[in-house]
This record gives sequence, structure tokens and C-alpha cells, in this order.
Amino acid sequence: MSGRTRVSACPERTCVGCRERAVKGDLLRIVMVEGDCVPDQRGTLPGRGAYVHPTLVCHDLAVRRRAFPRAFRAQGPLDTTALRSYVEQVTP
Ligand SMILES: [Zn+2]
Repeated sequence: MSGRTRVSACPERTCVGCRERAVKGDLLRIVMVEGDCVPDQRGTLPGRGAYVHPTLVCHDLAVRRRAFPRAFRAQGPLDTTALRSYVEQVTP
């Protein structure tokens, strides 16, 4: 018991695109569903999640770095088409 509760009060995650830390609420949670990367808009889908800023810059960086297969420990490439169109919609 250290008495330090700041971490649990304000959870941070690392964006798999730009590798910067941000509060969980600012990042989009991504999960793998049958080889597809899908946005978990409500944060309720089961399984391992990856976090990325909901911007095309971070999305494209993550794809180029193969960050999603690495995050999900996938054997092959993942389909990020649906994810990209989602990010395109939410990006101003
Ligand atoms: Zn980012």
C-alpha cells in the first residue's frame, strides 16, 4: 500500500501511432474481431485493446508501424479499412 492513487483515478494509455501518452478518454480503443481492427466506441468490447488518437495521422502511423498486429499479437496483417473510414468520419 503506497497510498498513491493518482494512476487509477486518471488512467493513461499510450497511442500506438504517435507513442504519446494520453488520458484514456482522449484515445480510441481498438479491438481485433476476426482479423479486422474495429473501433470500440463504447469501450465495452471484450479482448485485448489498443489505443490510438482518433486522427488519420495517428491511424496511418500505427498502420505503417504494424502497431495493430503487434498490439493484438496477430500472426498476419489485419484489415484496417473499417477503422480508417471510422477515423475519417470523426476527424474534423
Ligand atoms: Zn497519437
